[in-house]
Amino acid sequence: SFIVQNKNMPSFLDELNEVQRAAVTHENGAALVVAGPGSGKTRVLTYRIANLIEQGVAPWNILSLTFTNKSAKEMKERIALVVGEERAARVWAGTFHSIFARLLRGEAAKIGYTSNFTIYDSEDSKSVLRTIIKEMNLAKETYNENAILSRISSAKTNLISPKAYEQNNELMVQDQSTKRPFIYKIYQEYLNRCKRADAMDFDDLLYQTFILLHHNEDVLAKYRARFTHFLVDEFQDTNYLQYAILKKLAKYPGSAENICVVGDDAQSIYAFRGATIENILNFEKDFSGLKVFKLEQNYRSTPHIVGAANEVITNNRRQIQKTIWTEKPEGQRIKVIKSQSDQEEAKRVADLIIEQKNRNHLLNSDIAILYRTNAQSRTFEEALRRGNLQYRVYGGMSFYQRKEVKDVIAYLRLITNSNDDEALRRIINFPRRSIGDATVDKLSALAGEKNQSLWATLPMYEGTPREKNALQNFIALMTTAMQRAQKANAYEMAQFIVKQSGLLDTLKLDTTLEGIGRLDNVNALLDAISEFVNNDEIIDEATVPDKLLPTYLQNIALVADFNQNDGENKSTDVITLMSVHSAKGLEFKSVIVSGMEEGLFPSFMSQDTPEGYDEERRLFYVAITRAEQFLALTYATSRYRFGQMKFAEPSSFLNEIDAKHLEGMGSLSGFKKADPIIERARITGNFKPLNRASTAPIDEKDFKPSPTEKIKEKQNVMHLRFGKGEVRSIEGGKDNPIAAIYFEDTKEVKKIALKFAKLQIME
Ligand code: ATP
Ligand code: MG
Repeated sequence: SFIVQNKNMPSFLDELNEVQRAAVTHENGAALVVAGPGSGKTRVLTYRIANLIEQGVAPWNILSLTFTNKSAKEMKERIALVVGEERAARVWAGTFHSIFARLLRGEAAKIGYTSNFTIYDSEDSKSVLRTIIKEMNLAKETYNENAILSRISSAKTNLISPKAYEQNNELMVQDQSTKRPFIYKIYQEYLNRCKRADAMDFDDLLYQTFILLHHNEDVLAKYRARFTHFLVDEFQDTNYLQYAILKKLAKYPGSAENICVVGDDAQSIYAFRGATIENILNFEKDFSGLKVFKLEQNYRSTPHIVGAANEVITNNRRQIQKTIWTEKPEGQRIKVIKSQSDQEEAKRVADLIIEQKNRNHLLNSDIAILYRTNAQSRTFEEALRRGNLQYRVYGGMSFYQRKEVKDVIAYLRLITNSNDDEALRRIINFPRRSIGDATVDKLSALAGEKNQSLWATLPMYEGTPREKNALQNFIALMTTAMQRAQKANAYEMAQFIVKQSGLLDTLKLDTTLEGIGRLDNVNALLDAISEFVNNDEIIDEATVPDKLLPTYLQNIALVADFNQNDGENKSTDVITLMSVHSAKGLEFKSVIVSGMEEGLFPSFMSQDTPEGYDEERRLFYVAITRAEQFLALTYATSRYRFGQMKFAEPSSFLNEIDAKHLEGMGSLSGFKKADPIIERARITGNFKPLNRASTAPIDEKDFKPSPTEKIKEKQNVMHLRFGKGEVRSIEGGKDNPIAAIYFEDTKEVKKIALKFAKLQIME
């Protein structure tokens, strides 16, 4: 009969729509798929690889480049389903860095390396730079290693050799104006030293690959013959150097130009790393026989989510026009959740997750919490832990496991307990104060002989005058801190120590992205401590007797331990916590995008330029489009940032979504009231943030807390953070009276410790 399946057509191709199938089976010549999120771009790449293998292309002739190792792995798993594990494993699939590290290992001798070369992390690189700067007798204040490292990194990414650097007038003028005219020399020396050490830094994995291919005809010829088919996912985020390598391999006279790239200009989120949308435009020029495919159907998300995403992205100034649509059933509206504090936000999110798990039978692994900055993970970690929900923090360690956070806590531990040898070891030479490892080893031996702590041993140490001096300064610093800690609260102590130890200054010098991240984390820790000190609300019914350092440390010890266990927990059913950046390409049934506040998302750092603002919006677009069925956008009207409680306005991005897609809950009545404002904003194009609800907190400077012994039942009070409320009852003993207060804004009773409360009695 005529229903017989076409024997030449593999059945898996049925799982594609017409355009997808055309892109998958496209033969001979370059292909570009520009399409919106969830339209199946990654699926096209995956099926294309499977199809190539089915058509007889050898797996090792295929080079597939993805943005994260996680997606490379997923892709291989999917390919394995079609062509079997063995063949799938032999495809060259991975990130640019991992693939080219592999290539370099095989060819290292050609550029003066061995195949065992080390990969330096940024700490190693900086240490090399410090040595060079010292040996060149340059002022280390001017020649800050972080600034220099990012200069070198961007030179490499733009394929500028030290020689070319020296001859580049623009770069030399820039360096003269920052009073660092010798960067080109340091750059040269840095390359020499890395080579001598048989080491490559992260940028080198790309830079040296290019050099290798550029200077070695035979190697180039070999890989041109090896790789007959190229595939690149998330092409919008490749940088100049990555594209240059691709072109070397795929574009030459006689090349079949079998290169298929997929991407979405509206999801380009790495401009700060030198990724340029130009690459898409150049691709069209460089591969003139190019066939372009446009996918429009979204298979991932419900109409409310797709609609919201479309509305948000139309506010960007420059983009390749596309529309995405979906056939999915309508589904739920997007929940907008307002909270009055970051803590409350985390609690509400945990509640929402529990509700979704019960009502919609979601697994933990169906759920992701996304945030703009990694530092935001802390409050969520604490709330999830309280809710007994398993989670994993991706792209960055669990907050309390981060080095800089551990460093600050080590200081606090030593202040609290001078016998804490591990804390002392951690910080005695951090920030660097010329107390080297050898000294610590000798100290340790001496402490062993005397059977006492390292701290007690410090004054007895016989070393060079320089060493003795360094130790004296350290002892003086810590002794002062220990004395202060008798009276000062945990926050005052933390502030004192990060400043006086030089830790804060050291971190501030580092202007690389990672460096800024570290500073953010220390500030987030300070915020956490500040919150601990100022918190008068009683969560967990565990009353806090005081605000001193030991109490704080006991509090967090639990959290820190929990996370350690979680790191060993191999369970895969965990809630995902990650930054929006690292969520690119992924999808989850339920997504919570948190911290939707002006200055946070969009980030205050991006608000000066329209380009920066547009990139934030693309980032928001990526965040929204990760969701399959449920999406929640949460914000807090106050949040601890930079050591202070700051009031925040809802993100202006929220206004860009039509109210018909949104649904409030709990205290969101304020949002509903503001709907006309949304409408007006849309018409006038004036995206002013929404007004806060009428009972929202007042200005800190107008706020005059009343003495708490005057607080009585039935009184109307104003709380700095929670707004207007009525005292329902006062319980607890004289030492620690606790008021139950009904707050109008949330229509909730909160328990407040009067000992620490900031309440103003209203007439
Ligand atoms: P992003 O831009 O976010 O990376 P994408 O364009 O790469 O998205 P995919 O991840 O490939 O999109 O696809 C989104 C979801 O839709 C996946 O779960 C995928 O399996 C599914 N999908 C794609 N195409 C089809 C199709 N033709 N039929 C059914 N499901 C599909
Ligand atoms: Mg994708």
